[in-house]
Amino acid sequence: MKVINKIENNLKNLHAQDPKIAKLVDQELDRQRNSIELIASENFTYRGALEAAGSVLTNKYAEGYPDHRYYGGCEVIDKVEKIAIERVCKLFGCKYANVQPHSGSSANLAAYHALANIGDTIMGLALDNGGHLTHGSPVNFSGIYYDSQSYTLNKETEQLDYDLILKQAKKVKPKVIVAGYSAYPRKISFKKMRDICNKVGAYLLVDMAHIAGLVATKQHPNPFPYAHVVTSTTHKTLRGPRSGIILTNDKELAKKINKAVFPGLQGGPLMHIIAAKAVCFKYAASAEYKNYIKKTMANAKAIGKGMEDGGLRLITGGTDNHLCLVDVSVARATGKQVEAACDKAFITVNKNTIPNEKLSPFVTSGIRVGTPAVTTRGFTEKDCYKVGQNIAKIAFNLNANGNCKPAVLKEVQKDSKAMLKARPLYAGSQY
Ligand SMILES: *Cc1c(COP(=O)(O)O)cnc(C)c1O
Repeated sequence: MKVINKIENNLKNLHAQDPKIAKLVDQELDRQRNSIELIASENFTYRGALEAAGSVLTNKYAEGYPDHRYYGGCEVIDKVEKIAIERVCKLFGCKYANVQPHSGSSANLAAYHALANIGDTIMGLALDNGGHLTHGSPVNFSGIYYDSQSYTLNKETEQLDYDLILKQAKKVKPKVIVAGYSAYPRKISFKKMRDICNKVGAYLLVDMAHIAGLVATKQHPNPFPYAHVVTSTTHKTLRGPRSGIILTNDKELAKKINKAVFPGLQGGPLMHIIAAKAVCFKYAASAEYKNYIKKTMANAKAIGKGMEDGGLRLITGGTDNHLCLVDVSVARATGKQVEAACDKAFITVNKNTIPNEKLSPFVTSGIRVGTPAVTTRGFTEKDCYKVGQNIAKIAFNLNANGNCKPAVLKEVQKDSKAMLKARPLYAGSQY
């Protein structure tokens, strides 16, 4: 293979020092290059972010916050963290940010810690309706340490039903209501969620992990000024390194959040990752990135149209963000089967429960299909429409054993290969 690409060159030392791991990193890059990545929570981060994440900043201990550290030698690190904070506040129009959480889940853990006491009631969307594990699932800290009283979607519309949420909130009197989801294809009214919170005296915690990139580019309403606290990941639509953030406009809450993160839950911050986050916040403010998000959303519509024209059913009848939730039971298929069959055709999707789900979470009646990653590598609406049609084709052509009919599989494999070749990942001078 012709090496024109810094990505490969970067592993020179790793190959010398630990060839086993280096080879696996290369294999993973190959895997990413050779599949149509439609997992809605994944993306391909910037080379600049990869370099920052792989930098010597990983060597530095910096417990505490800029200008208030428990270690010496933090004068450079302080500048990095201050830039990250300044950029993310500007990006989302808020006053205070904590950029130290290691992930979206630990950001939520810290946010709950700041807003509620152990045993208090929290109210998030049920996991099988599109919520996240950290929104009160019984197998997660959020459902173990707090009294979790989940809300659900409207069974007919498959969408948020603010009257239903209010009714439940009046009944269970939560300390915190969580808005923001992992598998919800429609816009969220943060204003309506805040009105509900005001009526029952609850905090509004918005977890914008999936839609942060849309919010940053004004393609989805901003949780501010309605949310008391906002958490997010930085590696989904935001296209940064794998990590988390917490934002607020409230000075007292900001103090509680900082205490909750450190010394409450974490030790030293990952300064290399904070630097990489700063890189993604910089790009997220650019016109080019706004264009990318608009394309991501147009691509989600196109892939949805392709699946719908192929006979599958879109939950809620469509999408206004970066993902589609799809009912594959109309093809007499399960999510598990479609996921496995698509995988063989170089298309990566994940099985997903759908509203009114009748099957177990390990089988499911649905799949979740998102476009942030393929849009990063340059897929167009035309490509996405075709991929959508191909997913439907696979779902409707499964044998009794759950495998795709060989002739159909072959056709789709050919299409996938052609598209992947035409839109190479991390090639030339690309991002
Ligand atoms: C992905 C996600 C998270 C968790 O992020 P991790 O970095 O995987 O811990 C939290 N909330 C929502 C809504 C998510 O979709």
